[in-house]
Amino acid sequence: MNIDFKDKKVLIRVDFNVPLNDAYQITDDTRILAALPTIKHVLDQGGAAILMSHLGRPMKKMKPDGSINRERFTLQHIVGHLSNKLNTTVFFSPDTVGKNALLLANELKAGEVLVLENTRFEVGEKKGDRDLARRLAALADIYINDAFGTAHRAHTSTTTVADFFSPPNRAFGFLMENELKNANKILNNPSRPLTAIIGGAKVSDKILLLEKLMDLADTLVIGGGMAYTFIRAQGGKTGKSLVEEDKIDLAKQLLKKAEATNTKLLLPQDSVVADAFKEDANTSIVSSYEIADEWMGLDIGPQARSAFADAIATSSTILWNGPMGVFEMSAFSQGTKHIAQTVASATANGAFSLVGGGDSVAAVKQMKLADQVSYVSTGGGAMLELLEGKTLPGIAAISG
Ligand code: AMP
Repeated sequence: MNIDFKDKKVLIRVDFNVPLNDAYQITDDTRILAALPTIKHVLDQGGAAILMSHLGRPMKKMKPDGSINRERFTLQHIVGHLSNKLNTTVFFSPDTVGKNALLLANELKAGEVLVLENTRFEVGEKKGDRDLARRLAALADIYINDAFGTAHRAHTSTTTVADFFSPPNRAFGFLMENELKNANKILNNPSRPLTAIIGGAKVSDKILLLEKLMDLADTLVIGGGMAYTFIRAQGGKTGKSLVEEDKIDLAKQLLKKAEATNTKLLLPQDSVVADAFKEDANTSIVSSYEIADEWMGLDIGPQARSAFADAIATSSTILWNGPMGVFEMSAFSQGTKHIAQTVASATANGAFSLVGGGDSVAAVKQMKLADQVSYVSTGGGAMLELLEGKTLPGIAAISG
C-alpha cells in the first residue's frame, strides 16, 4: 500500500463476517484480527478509517413479517471487540449510506474509526448496484479492499465501488496482498515437486480445481469422500461410501487426463470403513476397492496414510484443501490428523505449504498446527476460485 493516507478518509472493505453465538458474542475473531494490520496502518499514517462489511445473510433470514432482522445481523455486535483490539474508540453508523453515515463520515477525524452498518442491509449490495456504490464512495477519498473472503463476489462493496476511485486511490489491503502473494507461490512457477492434497465430500464441488491441478501439480493426492467416485470409476466396489453416480464418467476423464499430463495420482488404497455414519459405529480396515455392500469408507486407511505422507515429505510445495475423512468424528479423524502433521513436518524441513478451503483450515486449527504451516488462507470459496485460475471480481476491480 504505497499511498499517502495523511488526513484522508479511507473506506476499507473488511471481512467482519464472524460467527456469533445466541447471545451475539463473537466465537471466533480470526477475521477481525486479520483486518487489523491494514486498519492500524491507515490510522498510524494519519488517515481516518471507515469500515464496511457484511455479516451473515440478512436477506435470506428475514423475520416472519418480511423485515430485516436487524438485532441479529447488525455490525454493532463487533464494535466493542474491535475497539478493544485497536485500543481506540470506534464509532458506529446505524445505516450504511444514509444520513447518519454521511454525517459521521464527515465529522470523522484523523486517527478515528467508523463502522458502517451491515452492507447486506442494502438491497443493492448483492446486485453490484452503481447508485449504492456512488453513495458509499461519497464517504471517502480512498478505497481499500481487504476482504479476501468475499473477493469472489461481484457485490457493490467488494467490486462496483472501486470504479468510483481511480488509481492510486484504490488498492488492496495487507491481508489481500498476502493471500494473493501466497496463492501465486502455487500458481506461478512453484518450487517443484508440487503436491496437491484434495479431500472433502464431493467431486462436484472441486471439478475445476482438480482439472487445473492436473496441469499444475506433479502429484495429486485425493482423499475424503470424493475418492470413492474415482475408485468406482476404476471399477472398485465402494459399498455405501459417498459416490456421486453422475460424476463417475467425469472421474474417468480426470483419470485419463492425469495420465496425459503425467500427473502422479494417488488414491487411498485402503479405508477405515464403518457400518453406520456415526462415531460409535463398528469399524474395520479394508481395501478401498473391496468395500462390502452395507459398509462405507469414512477415512483413509493406514496404508494410504503412509503412501500420502511419503509424497508430501518429498515435496517442495504443498497445497492442501479438504479433509481426508469425516474428521469431525474422532473415530474417522486419524487420516486428516496424519496429513496435517506430515504437512507441518515437511514445512519444518523447508517446504512451502498453503492450507486453503474451509474444512482443512478447521482441521489444522483444531490440531493447533496453524502456525506450523506456511500459510492458512482466510478465504474458503475465494481461495478455491483463485486456485481454479478464475479472475476474482474484487481483485479485477482494483487491478483494473
Ligand atoms: P468440503 O467442504 O468439500 O471440504 O467437505 C468437508 C466435509 O467432507 C467434512 O464435513 C467431512 O466430514 C466430509 N467428508 C470427508 N470425508 C468423507 C467421507 N469419506 N464420507 C463422507 N463425508 C466425508
